[in-house]
Amino acid sequence: MTGARDRYEAFKARGLKLNMQRGQPSDADFDLSNDLLNAVGPHDTLTAGGQDIRNYSAGGVAGLPEARELFGRMMDVTADQMLVWNNASLEVQGHVLTWALLKGLPGSTSPWAAQRPQLIVTTPGYDRHFLLLQTLGFELLTVEMQADGPDVDAVERLAAGSDRVKGVLFVPTYSNPGGETVSVQKARRLAALKAAAPDFTIFADDAYRVHHLYAQDRDEAVNFVALCAEAGHPDRAFVFASTSKITFAGAGLGFVASSAANVKAVGAWLNAQSIGPNKVEQWRHVRFLEGYPGGVEGLMARHAEIIAPKFAAVDEVLSAALGRGGELATWGTPKGGYFISLDTTLPVARRVVQLAGEAGVSLTPAGATYPGGLDPHDRNIRLAPTRPPVEEVREAMEVVAACIQLASEEYRAANG
Ligand code: PMP
Repeated sequence: MTGARDRYEAFKARGLKLNMQRGQPSDADFDLSNDLLNAVGPHDTLTAGGQDIRNYSAGGVAGLPEARELFGRMMDVTADQMLVWNNASLEVQGHVLTWALLKGLPGSTSPWAAQRPQLIVTTPGYDRHFLLLQTLGFELLTVEMQADGPDVDAVERLAAGSDRVKGVLFVPTYSNPGGETVSVQKARRLAALKAAAPDFTIFADDAYRVHHLYAQDRDEAVNFVALCAEAGHPDRAFVFASTSKITFAGAGLGFVASSAANVKAVGAWLNAQSIGPNKVEQWRHVRFLEGYPGGVEGLMARHAEIIAPKFAAVDEVLSAALGRGGELATWGTPKGGYFISLDTTLPVARRVVQLAGEAGVSLTPAGATYPGGLDPHDRNIRLAPTRPPVEEVREAMEVVAACIQLASEEYRAANG
């Protein structure tokens, strides 16, 4: 047996059961927000503005004014540019896209569904974006995610080429999976680009906008709502986010920032299907987050203390086992977010994930970062180090490194 196979078999014999698959907070992260559960008691059911959270909303569908203020500050927009909804930003994305298909957006000449719509996505990217868009019937066009954001040359070309191209969906800050943040230069080009479609739209899923790992060394999130207004396209951007990785995952608030006109339009659609979002959840988030030392920023600094050592462990173990020269693999060292994207040098990602699975380490399926689950190069693997404790991250990455060595050796043996 070879050295690589020996090492792999030794890991396999340990009977490990480690999960590096989904981007979930750890229990230690959740514990930071346990006081959310007591943030509203039986005697404080009136909001600061006098709304009884037990009754239907007097304030309409866009959310409690206090929640719109709070998350407006986080998204760098005014309260009238915010709509705060229920427990998931993906749901808000789904609502906006579905209504765009059925009715068109405010700047549209007809419903998108009537135009065989196409949407640009970045790769590698987030599998749930692809699932949502393809399930709704969009044809996907892919552009590369680069270190400073989407390949804007390619976006400009595609957008100029056909009025069926209705927009671009990507993660602007600490992207999933690569951790890239769009530069303000690229963001300005996207805000100003000349599209064939009059209703070309930037859908920015800013899920990791405030998820910095370090106090000083951090990326700056751009403000697409303001940049689009400056560029003369005030209604071009919808920027989504949620508290899923701030408080509780899937048990908090999803929201969207856009022009006040777009917020009104989305509100009018939502008003047809709901009397309003869950105000109990909104009010207790406001009370909890405003009462937290340092507010949202203070809470995120506590998360960073838990998460940064896990990111460091991935880099340390991979560097020690594989070297930094890129002979077998390269990977990112993002300054925030939830993921590290790894590219094997040879086309062996699928085999690496299979070997890791057989050794008890579950990784995101190879290909998941591409539409249809098909990575044309079979090289990309998304690593999600946030959920397991740091010792397990270390152990899992040792296994992954051994799998990369073995899969590369197998490939070379089979291909000369
Ligand atoms: N967007 C991105 C980019 C994500 O990575 C995730 C979670 N993995 C989500 C959205 C899901 O957010 P929510 O729970 O608000 O739907």
